[in-house]
Amino acid sequence: MPADICTRPWEYRVEPFRILGNLYYVGNRDVSSHLIDTGEGLILLDTAFPQTVYLLLESIRELGFDPGEIRWIVHSHAHYDHCGGTRAIVELTSAKTALGRDDLFMLTDRPELTWAPEYGTEFHEFFAVDRLMQDGDRLALGNTVIECLHAPGHTPGVLACFFEVSEGADRYVVGTHGGPGLNTLTETYLTQYGLTFDARTQYLDSLKKLKKRHVDIFIGAHPGQSNTLDKRQGMTDAANPFIDATAWPRFLAQLEANARRAFGIEG
Ligand SMILES: [Zn+2]
Repeated sequence: MPADICTRPWEYRVEPFRILGNLYYVGNRDVSSHLIDTGEGLILLDTAFPQTVYLLLESIRELGFDPGEIRWIVHSHAHYDHCGGTRAIVELTSAKTALGRDDLFMLTDRPELTWAPEYGTEFHEFFAVDRLMQDGDRLALGNTVIECLHAPGHTPGVLACFFEVSEGADRYVVGTHGGPGLNTLTETYLTQYGLTFDARTQYLDSLKKLKKRHVDIFIGAHPGQSNTLDKRQGMTDAANPFIDATAWPRFLAQLEANARRAFGIEG
């Protein structure tokens, strides 16, 4: 994680862009935010940091959208770098919020688990959660239905999201793994915060479940996970590198190999 994104957020600005159809990248260089124009309002996936929320709002405006049209904010998980900007956006708009049910306690009872301390700060940006998502729950707005799968491990309530986008006559399945990081599964972290090692088993079980899904367009919770900014450079009138059905299984296989090595599991 870049240590200085909270103190020097302007260095992380990324020009927003359309990925495909009604799906846009409005995140920064470190953390993803994605915007879906449903035709009946906007859905925002993750809000990054409180310190970067001005970049996020400006990115939405630059694409020609009004942040006031955000109807739902869907969170990958309750870490500071994904839900830190939510409070500010909820204050400014009538957006409702969705979060994995099993992450709610982090906001209400264990703010030190929001990963804010690791960024050298504290989590003060509490927001009311309007919808607690469980495995298989769907959130529908306009032309979009987001299916959320519970993918615990990185945090207890990680959500993986799946939805369709279309361009012309072609339809594509977009998929996210909301929390693939191993940084909360180290012995040091688990011990420091009094968490159980069951989280490691849950992490591997989540990967098994997600592997069964077909994904045409994989978008990372951090741009580095899906090479989002490189793919942006590779976009031409003839080619869209985001359309790549091999990216999702390759990413999950790499996560599994990394996790097995980190956890000391053979095979
Ligand atoms: Zn996280």
